[in-house]
Parts: sequence; structure tokens; C-alpha cells
Amino acid sequence: MSKPNDELFKNVISHAKEYGFVFPSSEIYDGLSAVYDYGQNGVELKNNIKTYWWKAMVQLNENIVGLDSAIFMHPKIWKASGHVDGFSDPMIDNKDSNKRYRADQLLEDKIDRYDKDGKTDKAEQLQHDMDEALKNDDLPRLKELIIAHEIADPVSGTRNWTDVRQFNLMFSTQMGAVADDADLVYLRPETAQGIFVNYLNVQKSGRMKIPFGIAQIGKAFRNEVIARQFIIRMREFEQMEMQFFVRPGTQKEWFEHWKAMRLKWHLALGTGPEKYRYHEHTKLAHYADAAFDIEYEFPFGFKEVEGIHSRTDFDLSQHQKFSGKKLQYFDPEINQNYVPYVIETSIGLDRMFLLTLINAYVEEDLSTEEKQDSRVVLRLHPCLAPVKAAIFPLTKKDGLPEKAREIMDKLKINFNLQYEEKDAIGKRYRRQDAIGTPFCITVDHQTLEDNTVTIRHRDTMKQERVDAGQLENIIGGLVSWKNLLSL
Ligand code: ATP
Repeated sequence: MSKPNDELFKNVISHAKEYGFVFPSSEIYDGLSAVYDYGQNGVELKNNIKTYWWKAMVQLNENIVGLDSAIFMHPKIWKASGHVDGFSDPMIDNKDSNKRYRADQLLEDKIDRYDKDGKTDKAEQLQHDMDEALKNDDLPRLKELIIAHEIADPVSGTRNWTDVRQFNLMFSTQMGAVADDADLVYLRPETAQGIFVNYLNVQKSGRMKIPFGIAQIGKAFRNEVIARQFIIRMREFEQMEMQFFVRPGTQKEWFEHWKAMRLKWHLALGTGPEKYRYHEHTKLAHYADAAFDIEYEFPFGFKEVEGIHSRTDFDLSQHQKFSGKKLQYFDPEINQNYVPYVIETSIGLDRMFLLTLINAYVEEDLSTEEKQDSRVVLRLHPCLAPVKAAIFPLTKKDGLPEKAREIMDKLKINFNLQYEEKDAIGKRYRRQDAIGTPFCITVDHQTLEDNTVTIRHRDTMKQERVDAGQLENIIGGLVSWKNLLSL
């Protein structure tokens, strides 16, 4: 039976904690809001998602190279990029509860309420009024709308609001030992700027010819005011971004190319296409000439997972202006110098992680007429599974553990494996199903005689007897990146 969506989501969150995927940060100190840690299985899954992205972007594209730039950067970079002046959300406080809200989100919630109550005219009018106010940065107008639509604080229940103010999302800290002289530096709110400021270094040292791309995976930090929905909106998160530098005038065709390629990357994991949709930005950021999001249908609705943006020559031109260094490219084909245009693909690793977990999580009823039974299984793509195979000696004696370890030692160089000898085999299967292990291999008395083992498949639960010497090929065949990347 299918579960209601919020129950399913709650179950996924508790499963993620119980099986070592995601823990609340600093939990023994009651946690730190909107910050999470990845546990022993989470880190493996996360690394496998990173590898999938890195191979698809860098390894398979001769004209894309990687980068790992520092989190701290010169503070002027954030002035040039527009983050110091413009990276903010409109906030409003309730004077009775002292709670702070995003003004646009209070209005969005009201629009949803109107929709649910069948008041579509009111919903449309408010959407229009809010869009206008946001477009014109008209903060007093946002407050007027909150008052006019009688929006009350869900905590205090009152309408005693402050004015709407802009709240910058960047974290800052000081660099240098002496507090008075220390420079204010920011924790980067996106990885992209590290790519832009290294554009020339990479282009020259790698003798890159346009079109070419630079890809980077790394942490980003945003002081999100409303942090909710688990790892969807965190204050410390990870991005996988690629900036593709193109000749001005060709950006439309490259934009379409990357829009299609990135959706293909998502769908190759076997996710139903109906779970994905493109969302076109109608209100473009000041630097963009086209922008689409790739959205996934989470249990709480469609949410952005990845953005594809055509950023024009905005970033490089700004850095050229603020640094005083030329960031141009001489294009031998047309005999011209220009500042390249940029297409960006930017995916949130944590949102991709959550999507993968939710998509894989299945509660299966295995009851027969004789007995009730069930299991939770993570139907992860084998390439992404944290553990590729588990090795079980049937019993703890008769030399079976030694034989199992001997088999494991041969395989563990190539695959992440787990050894388990505690509990009945059925229980051990369930534990591995719950973390998505594609194979369980049992070593029994027959193994000692003829070197065969039983191999049990996660999804079908079918078992077969195979020669232990074939395990390398069997596991290798299923977890090979070829299965994902040669589509
Ligand atoms: P949103 O509108 O949901 O705040 P955004 O448009 O600000 O997202 P971008 O700046 O385009 O996001 O960042 C690219 C990607 O980084 C997003 O598609 C998302 O997957 C991820 N991301 C952004 N903010 C967060 C966050 N606070 N926590 C986790 N992931 C995030």
C-alpha cells in the first residue's frame, strides 16, 4: 500500500538516521539548525554521486577540466559578483513572537491557501502583485500586501509586523590575527566564482580552446533564514557546478545542449521521467539571458535540484572591471578578442542525495498465507550503492569465517564490502537491503569442498550458486560505470 507523502518523507528521514546516512549536526548538543552530517553509509553514497557527476562532466568531455578552488576568496570578488549588494532575501519580523520570516514566502503560503480554498482569482491577483513588488525591489509594498491579505504569524497569531528589510545571506568572518586589522572575508555562497576568477589560469595552463568548461565540486554556505525540509535547504551544503565558456552569439545553442544533457544524466539513473520537469524562470537574474531549473517531485512537491543558466559575459566582465586584469580570449577562428559567454550547470549535491534516497526507498510487503513479513529496501542504482556486496559465513565455526575472509580479501581492493557473521542469514539480508547492498554472498560448508558460494540479489531476492572465482566479474559487471555512462 502506498503511504501518504508526509509519512513516507518522515520514514525516509528516520531511516537515513537509523542506517547511518544522515545525522543532525552536533546532535549531542541538541543539534545546529539546518546543518547535517553524513554518516558511514551517507558518505559513500555521496561520494558515488560525486563520482557519477565528475565522470559524466570531466572524464567524458575532453573539453571540460576540473578545479578545486579555496572557500575563502578575496572579498572584492563578492562585490564584483553582486553578492555583497544583492544576495539577500526580504525579511519581516513578528514583534510578538520575535520570529523572522521571508516576506515572499509568507505571501506564497497565502497564495497556496487561496488556491486550496478555490479562490483562484485572489491567488492570481496576489501572485501578480507580489511578482511586481519583487521585481521593483519595493519592500514597503510587500508589507502592504502582508497586511492587506491579513497574514498572521503562525506562532503568535498576531499581525504585529515590522517593516520588510533585506537580509544578506552570506556568512562573514575575519582573516588575520589582530582583530583591528583583520579583513572581512566571506564563506563562499556558491562555488561558481572560484571558477570565474581562475578562468584565465586554466585556459592558459591547459591551452584550452573555446568552447570549454571548468567543473568543481565543493562546499557553499548560505545563512538561509527559513531552513526546512531536511537537507533541501541547509546553511552549509555542497554544489557541483560547471561553467562552460562559449563564443558570444552561440550561447543559445549551448544552453539547449546542456539543458538536455543534464536531464539525461538524471534520467540515466532509472528515475521515472514523470518525476522530473523543467521550470523556466520568467523573472531572470540581472546577469542571465535564459534560465531553467530541473525540478524533481519530492513528497512535498516539485523542488529545484539543478539550475541551468545562461550567464552572458556578466561574471567575467565584472571581474575584469574590479580586478583591472583582462579576461579575454583570442579566437583564432574568427581572429577576434572577446570576453566569453558562460552557460552554467549548478546542481545541489545534498538535494541530489535526498532525491536518490527517496527514489530508492521502498517498504515491501512480503507476507504469504502462512506468515506476515516485510522489508525496507533501498533500490539504489548499483553504481551508487554504499556497499557493493556483503560476505556472510553461514556459521561462526568450522573454518567458514576464515574462508569468507579469504574471499573478501581478494574482492575488497576493487569493491566496498561488508563482513557480517552475527544473527541468522535472513536478518543479515534485511540489514543489507536497508542500505541498498546489491549482493549478499554466503559461504557455507559446500564452499569448503568446491569453492562455490550462494549469491543473493537484492531486488529479486533470488539466490544462485556460483564459483567464488566468478565473483569479481559478477559484481564488477553490475557496478560498472559503463552501465550508467555509456547511455
Ligand atoms: P532555491 O531557490 O531553492 O533557494 P537557488 O535558486 O538559490 O535555490 P542556486 O543558487 O541556483 O539555488 O544554487 C544551485 C543549486 O544549489 C540549487 O539547485 C540547489 O540544488 C542547491 N542549493 C541552493 N541553496 C541550497 C541550500 N540552502 N541547501 C541545499 N542546497 C542548496
